[in-house]
Amino acid sequence: MQNTIGKLNTRQLEFPAQLIVRQNAVAASSELLEQLSTNKVVIALDEGVRQLAQQSLAFLDQRNLITHAISAADFENISQIDMLCAQQQVDTVIAFGGGKVLDACKRLASLRNVKLVVIPTALSSDCISSPVAVIFDKEGKKLSLPAAIPNFIIVDTDICARAPTRLTQAGVGDLLSNYSALLDMEYAEKQAEIDGFSFLLAKSAANEILYMGSKSLDDPEIINQLAEGLILSGLAMGFSGDSRPCSGAEHLISHALDFLQLGHGLHGEQVALGTKYCHYLRKLLGLPSLNPQVITTLDGLNIQSSPAALGISREDFFKALEIAPSMRKGRITFLEQLAHIPQATLQQAYADAFEPLTQ
Ligand SMILES: [Zn+2]
Repeated sequence: MQNTIGKLNTRQLEFPAQLIVRQNAVAASSELLEQLSTNKVVIALDEGVRQLAQQSLAFLDQRNLITHAISAADFENISQIDMLCAQQQVDTVIAFGGGKVLDACKRLASLRNVKLVVIPTALSSDCISSPVAVIFDKEGKKLSLPAAIPNFIIVDTDICARAPTRLTQAGVGDLLSNYSALLDMEYAEKQAEIDGFSFLLAKSAANEILYMGSKSLDDPEIINQLAEGLILSGLAMGFSGDSRPCSGAEHLISHALDFLQLGHGLHGEQVALGTKYCHYLRKLLGLPSLNPQVITTLDGLNIQSSPAALGISREDFFKALEIAPSMRKGRITFLEQLAHIPQATLQQAYADAFEPLTQ
């Protein structure tokens, strides 16, 4: 008999079969990786980490390996690797690299039946385990598309600790922005029910690093906690079935910057900028606002999170802000009130967030 009371059902969720976060994780997973494939394996990688991939994965049977470079997370790259998988009867794809490679492969795995192993070489966003991939269209615009959750996640903290600091800083920015997204989840409570589990996961994820401001970003402890936080964050989105627990008004501002192709910020830097602006604007509006520690940690870790640092003029920032509420259909955030907020208040929030010395 079919249970018609949906809320009494337990939910069916896809989860990675295995998660390994530790120092030397790739070598420690050699047995697992060797046993994964009965056929051909594609190692999809960033050209910049080709040598590192070859060294790290040297224990795999080279006769079954095809190495394939991903130059961008766009439709062309996805169809190239898709064709390669079809022609060579590939049953396993190992995504070795940053967000670009992971996103392209996660999208591929949602379209084609392959096992997906992700080995991030940097911790720049919560894309590692999320069911969303950022894919560029022909015009260079970013699209957020449904993607497969990887079957295996191997985070080698030695490898990630060697990533450029700016990428790690961006990862911290993306993770701390959960606090802002969760405020919007609460804001929207009357119109969109809060999913308690995804809320809890997204909050615990960000709690991992809230007090990390005094540590150096290549400290193995911070790399480990950041990795765990970003993975939990991706799973929170999987639980929720959408990106709400990790994407509120601050992400809408970042999406608007992408849409208008403004500045040169990484995703995590742009959402950190959005988090700061939204924090000060919420305060001026008398809305519940962030734990100030979030701002302290963003600043303490020197995360580039002001328009000036990301090459965005004040005027352009406000252009992006204006269209931000329309960036995700159906996403309710406190910016739904934007049209009714006085200009002076919007400007004051900008000054509070980005020009603290001039006050
Ligand atoms: Zn994000």
